Amino acid sequence: MNILVLNAGSSSVKAAVINPATGARGLEMSADRLLDAPRIEFSDGTVIEPESKGPERTIAVCLEALKDKLSGTDIDGVGHRVVHGGEDFDRATRIDEEVEARIESLSKLAPLHNPVNLRGIRAARALFPDVDHFAIFDTAFHQSLPRRAKTYALPKELMAEHGIRRYGFHGTSHQYVAAKAASFLGAEPRDLRIISCHLGNGCSVAAIEFGRSVETSMGMTPLEGLVMGTRSGDIDPGIIDYLHEQAGLSTSEIDELLNRKSGLAGLSGVGNDMRTILDKSMAGDADCQLAVQVFTHRLRKYIGGYAAIMGGVDAIVFTGGIGENSPVIRHRASQRLHYLGAVINEDKNSTAELSETVPVVDFSMQHSRVKLLAVRTDEQLAIARQCGKLIDKADAVNTMPSIPIAVSARHIHLRQETLDVLFGKGHELSVKKWLSQPGQFAAEETVTVVGPRNSIERVRVLGPVRSKDQLEISRTDEFFLGIDAPVRESGKVEDTPGCKLIGPAGEYDLEDGVICAWRHIHMTPEDAATFGVQDRDVVEVAVSNNERALTFGNVLIRVSPKYKLEMHIDTDEGNAAEIRRGDQGVLTMTGQEGTLRKRKVSLSS
Ligand code: AMP
Repeated sequence: MNILVLNAGSSSVKAAVINPATGARGLEMSADRLLDAPRIEFSDGTVIEPESKGPERTIAVCLEALKDKLSGTDIDGVGHRVVHGGEDFDRATRIDEEVEARIESLSKLAPLHNPVNLRGIRAARALFPDVDHFAIFDTAFHQSLPRRAKTYALPKELMAEHGIRRYGFHGTSHQYVAAKAASFLGAEPRDLRIISCHLGNGCSVAAIEFGRSVETSMGMTPLEGLVMGTRSGDIDPGIIDYLHEQAGLSTSEIDELLNRKSGLAGLSGVGNDMRTILDKSMAGDADCQLAVQVFTHRLRKYIGGYAAIMGGVDAIVFTGGIGENSPVIRHRASQRLHYLGAVINEDKNSTAELSETVPVVDFSMQHSRVKLLAVRTDEQLAIARQCGKLIDKADAVNTMPSIPIAVSARHIHLRQETLDVLFGKGHELSVKKWLSQPGQFAAEETVTVVGPRNSIERVRVLGPVRSKDQLEISRTDEFFLGIDAPVRESGKVEDTPGCKLIGPAGEYDLEDGVICAWRHIHMTPEDAATFGVQDRDVVEVAVSNNERALTFGNVLIRVSPKYKLEMHIDTDEGNAAEIRRGDQGVLTMTGQEGTLRKRKVSLSS
């Protein structure tokens, strides 16, 4: 399979033909200075310098030249990088007229980017009409941001009316390097808490908790967060009015100032290239020294903040032109992170050389609990892979069984030791009702759960006893109790909050174990083979049995010969989808990154 990956910017177009399965690259094109003196370079050495005919026509001219070069090459799909997907797009999407219109309507959120991305899409669809085109959004990976992270403290009506919230960018890169880092560490992203630092001309950090982005430093626009090449990143919003009043700048001048004249360029006075700034700072240039200090200070602030948000971190990843190539910046960002468990190996850091064959370098000490990794990003390959997955999906057949859905009320699993304290030494749970999962039962016993704000009585104990205590509550319970419970899969209770439990024989202070259960599907290995999934894949399930049809994203697969096919959601989720007894869902997509396994897909029930 060959995917043509296109990135149409305001003054440049980049293109590459990539095989998503192997990563092999065919022809590449890079066209610059589209607005004044276009110059198109191909990887085979050809250079074309066409006349500039205005931005729209010039993009088409570049793509026509590309099409000529590609005659004789089979193209199976075209993947377009699109900067802003707004609320609408949480994944790569096949482009049709409606999708084009939605991208256009999002232009108000990204006036510098979406209109030019769309120009590329329209020109390419006209030139390559016989293949599917796909939009891959920079914002999509961050759609999983919890509300607390994506919400600004502004009047809520105003935010709702204008779509003001934190969206985050560089999602394709953050997702790609997190997957690379995980596979380097012999794990899956969903096993790790990763802080990913994309440091290029644009810079952002993402907190990726067990595979999902839960925080990121860019916000509604790519201006928020870290110090960047020419962008200021975070500033006191009061400065905007101050500049208007005191320096007489208009809003568009302030916008230009913050986006194009600030950041490293503004601080250093020598431009936005980190290499020059580092060279000059070594030679004693005080402005460049301060630029480097402000850049890394801000980055360290985010790293510490994101570790706090995730309750710890397993790997810190550096990528982008600066993150991949600058030992000095990695050193400044990673030193004195011992308190987090991250200890830099200075030798490995200074000799790290990333390349196609060495895409990941670990520059932490062997005893460092948190791994420090430099990872080569490849957004084009990530885009090609996402297109490949969608093409595979369209080829698939519709024969999958539907999945019964069960709503789990709040409940608790207890260890024998805890049971002893709460119900008396040697207490044995008595079965009230057998549950659908073989061997599992709701016990007669209940406990009172006491949180900082309130308590909930008669929380059902589920049997049999387990090796870890675990209280599973809904978001509504969480607020009521006053406990900030993370979404976790069953059994993963490290660094989770605790609470007090009261039973008839005594009280027990649970140190940790309070979670919001990650919605999941239990299935047997035979079911998994039928669905084309594996244990701990993350999938989507559509429930369309009533007018509140809903797709549940981020559903975890749990496979064991002991299980019976059933999806478990909590009461809040059940209420949102108006799930009734006997309702069923259908698996619509597997979210597995980087694989192109063929799978069967059912699009409706
Ligand atoms: P990107 O946007 O990912 O292409 O990254 C561009 C940035 O990476 C520019 O600021 C470059 O100066 C910076 N960069 C590339 N190579 C190095 C290097 N060896 N040391 C420091 N910065 C570098």
